[in-house]
Amino acid sequence: MARFDGYYQAEVVAAHRVTPNMVRVRFGGPELAQWVSSGDPDERLTIAFPSPGRRTPPRPRIAGGAWHFDDAAAPEQRSYTVRRVGTGTLDVDFVVHEGGVAAEWAMRAGPGDAVGLSQAGGWYRRPAGVTSVFLVGDATALPAIGRIAEELPADVRAHAIVEVASDDDVQDLPSAADLTTTWLTGSGMGRAPSGLPDAVRNLALPGDGVYVWAAAETSATRAIRKHLRHERGLPNAAMTVIGYWRTQKEAWLQRYEPARPGLRRRRDALEAAGLSGQDLIEAWDQEMERAGL
Ligand SMILES: Cc1cc2nc3c(=O)[nH]c(=O)nc-3n(C[C@H](O)[C@H](O)[C@H](O)COP(=O)(O)OP(=O)(O)OC[C@H]3O[C@@H](n4cnc5c(N)ncnc54)[C@H](O)[C@@H]3O)c2cc1C
Repeated sequence: MARFDGYYQAEVVAAHRVTPNMVRVRFGGPELAQWVSSGDPDERLTIAFPSPGRRTPPRPRIAGGAWHFDDAAAPEQRSYTVRRVGTGTLDVDFVVHEGGVAAEWAMRAGPGDAVGLSQAGGWYRRPAGVTSVFLVGDATALPAIGRIAEELPADVRAHAIVEVASDDDVQDLPSAADLTTTWLTGSGMGRAPSGLPDAVRNLALPGDGVYVWAAAETSATRAIRKHLRHERGLPNAAMTVIGYWRTQKEAWLQRYEPARPGLRRRRDALEAAGLSGQDLIEAWDQEMERAGL
């Protein structure tokens, strides 16, 4: 699981468009020498961005395993995946889209810009002996899917289903595994409903010995999680399904904020009742759905 207790100021070494809707930023600088990869191929970290007009975010105080900023100076923070770990560098692939602090920062990033990074951790856990792997995600999950594919061993048979904005956003996914990739283009990505839930419904999944890793916009991952658990009967250990972002987040936040204290109490109660992993996420999803979220 993710750890958040470190803070590393990372400097932009280089940035370029990998495809029309994806910018790759290479981070380096002296503080990254202390940053240690968790080794999880879907490892995510928190990125703190400078406020408009600045090139470096403020440095937090670290207490109780968390970052603390003066309220007035708290920078915008988002979750991203470490696409590649180098020697003293790491790469992050940003989907670029209208209206996001992170996306807009990435579109302009260049040497002289800096961000704050946390330590990282991920959720990908292929059970021992499982050689049939399904990787499902939209463009925000493509960095993780690309890294997972690169790290799969040759004795694994893998099928990736990836949804991207356009045919030009398709990427090569090198792998030692026997990897088949299905690309969905034109659906999802905030422009149209995601095609991922239907693609998963139509998958021929082996009865056992399978592991599904899925990450995408939250309404898509909700549908995928329900389908895998209830229609396919997959046990928790056979899946990792995570919501990565929300379409129309601003409208969602307006509905969420008033409900937040009650939902927080419900979440504490679910955790106190011993729920964890996908059980907790689904029970939490049900609470959110009841609240119209
Ligand atoms: C564990 C984890 C790992 C992630 N890894 C990556 C990664 O490696 N690369 C990556 O690009 N994203 C990744 N994401 C998703 C990323 O955190 C979100 O997309 C985030 O909201 C982007 O922030 P922003 O400031 O650009 O947009 P925000 O300020 O959060 O949102 C502004 C507006 O844009 C919309 N929006 C947000 N994201 C998108 C999108 N991708 N496409 C279209 N509209 C969008 C929102 O609904 C909102 O209306 C990851 C998320 C998680 C939880």
